[in-house]
Formats: sequence, structure tokens, C-alpha cells
Amino acid sequence: MIMTQVSPQHIRAARERIAGKVERTPTVLSQNLSERFGVPVHLKLEHRQTTGSFKLRGASNAVASLNAAEKARGVIAASTGNHGRALAHAAKLEGMRAVICMSHLVPGNKLDEIRRLGAEIRIVGNSQDDAQQEVDRLVAQEGLVMLPPFDHPDIIAGQGTLGLEMIEQVPDAALMLVPLSGGGLAAGVTAAVKGVSPRTKIVGVSMARGAAMKASLDAGRPVPVEELPTLADSLGGGIGLDNRLTFAMCRDLLDDVILLSEDEIAAGIRHAYEREREIVEGAGAVGIAALLAGKVNANGPVVVLLSGRNIDMNAHRKIVCGEAPSLKEHAA
Ligand SMILES: *Cc1c(COP(=O)(O)O)cnc(C)c1O
Repeated sequence: MIMTQVSPQHIRAARERIAGKVERTPTVLSQNLSERFGVPVHLKLEHRQTTGSFKLRGASNAVASLNAAEKARGVIAASTGNHGRALAHAAKLEGMRAVICMSHLVPGNKLDEIRRLGAEIRIVGNSQDDAQQEVDRLVAQEGLVMLPPFDHPDIIAGQGTLGLEMIEQVPDAALMLVPLSGGGLAAGVTAAVKGVSPRTKIVGVSMARGAAMKASLDAGRPVPVEELPTLADSLGGGIGLDNRLTFAMCRDLLDDVILLSEDEIAAGIRHAYEREREIVEGAGAVGIAALLAGKVNANGPVVVLLSGRNIDMNAHRKIVCGEAPSLKEHAA
């Protein structure tokens, strides 16, 4: 038995805690991809989750796990967008204060949504690390409770509830493709799935531009990477040089990691729209993109996790029309 710090029991408890606060999203068979690859290819439509990404699972579980004194202090996080939005939503449900810190790389559409949910926003610097420094300052100064985007047991357990659903919906899954950034999603999903179905292979997918977890796994320890604009903006940022949980869990539980070019990610977004009629953001399209790029060895039922849909619609329009939007414009 592989030792991890987030157990299947922890994930089942999370599922009970967040029941009624998050959607159980559907899994559908992709006719097109199944024919193309000669194996059943299922799409887990988690981009349809409330707030537009799976991040609501971890945020809801972490917020619901706070005690009354912590709830009174309010929560704070650094986020490239989807965690901030999810945390703002979860805090609002509990009537709590939420402060979200982010860098200038965050797309404007994500900002507006967080503001609409009533959270306070601070924009600082040009990287996730700069945003994190502002969080540390406010935790010290104002006593807010930090709930980080991925490296926290209650966040990982919440994301793991997605893994439970995926293996229940496709019990004979031979392979799951999971978007990978800080690794909270991959850690939770692998802990949940391997606890039920140890033979199911789980592969993380990142963009080649600034793949922090992949670089860290190769180095054998968390390493810094330069954060670059990418179509998969939700996958940007480092894993934290003092990473406590997700690095070890990804190292021990993930079967492989695939990296994709920007063109490959664009092709994934386009396929999702034209063939599956789904609007997904770059990070949400990497599983499809990995299949289309021929980077996956599929010899049994596949589950592709579509993780989010919070893409700027002008950028989306350009991508599906075959015009690659300039990355700078996309990230503006
Ligand atoms: C955060 C996010 C990811 C990656 O999750 P990690 O836990 O950081 O690995 C993937 N897709 C979307 C849409 C996200 O918001």
C-alpha cells in the first residue's frame, strides 16, 4: 500500500461534506474520439461544474472544514483565477470574508467574476510567487486563514471527490488523462482512483511552457520554473519550493506526465468545440489535446477530464477560427 497524506477515507469524508454544494457532473462517451482511437473514450464534463471548474470541490471542502473562529477571520489565497473564483463562491455561501491575490497575468474575465462574487481582490507582481508574498503579508497583518490552491490536505481531498466520480462512472477505465499544474487535482484523483482501482493508469498533462511539476519530478525535488503566458493559463505557476504534499503524491502515484505545445492545446480547444460541442479553456482541453497529438498509448477505456471552461470568449472565438491569438493579448 502506497503511503500518502491524503487517504481514500479523507476523500470520502470530503464527498459527504460538500454534497449539495457541488454538482456531480456527467461523463459522456465521445463518439468521435472513440472511433478515432479504437477504444471507448469518455469525457468527464467537469468544466460544467458551478464556477466553471473543479476547483469548487477543494475550496468547498476546505471552507466547510474550518472551525467557527477561523470562519470569523475570513479566508485568503493567491490564485491564477479558478481557485480564487471557487473560494469566493464557497466563502460567500458561508457568509465569510474572502481576499484573493493574483498576478498581472490573470485574464480579465476571471477577475470580473471573482469581483462579482463579492471577494476583495489584490493584484500584485507578475507571478504566482509575487501574489503569494502579498498573501503572507495579509495573513500576518490581518489574521486571515490561507487556503492555497493545491498544497493543502482538505483541498486535495476535495479534488479527490472528482476521482471517485470518474471511477464510479467508468469502472473499467484503463487510463485517465488529468490536467496537471500544482498537482492538487492529480494528487486527489490518483489517491481516490488507485484506492479503488489500482490498475487504472493516470497520466498528468501540462503545457510545455513552464511545466513546474514535470521539471520538479525530473529533478527529484521542487524546482522553480519561469512562468510564461500560455493558452493553458490555469496551469501556470510553480509548485512551491516548500511543497508538502502534492509533489510526493504526484511522484508516487502518477504513471506519467505528458507535455504539450501551444498549437496542440489550441487543437484540443478546437476539437472540444467543433466535435464535442463543448466550450473548454486551454487547461481543460489538454487531455483531448494529448490524445490528438498522438502522445497517449490507449489500449483500453480512457477517461479524459475536462477540468474548466473559464476562457475569454474573444480568445476562444479566435482559436476555433484557426487564428492563434497572441499569447500576450490572451493573458491581458
Ligand atoms: C487549477 C486547474 C488545473 C490544475 O490543477 P492543479 O491542482 O493545480 O494541478 C487544471 N485545470 C483547471 C481548469 C484548473 O483551474
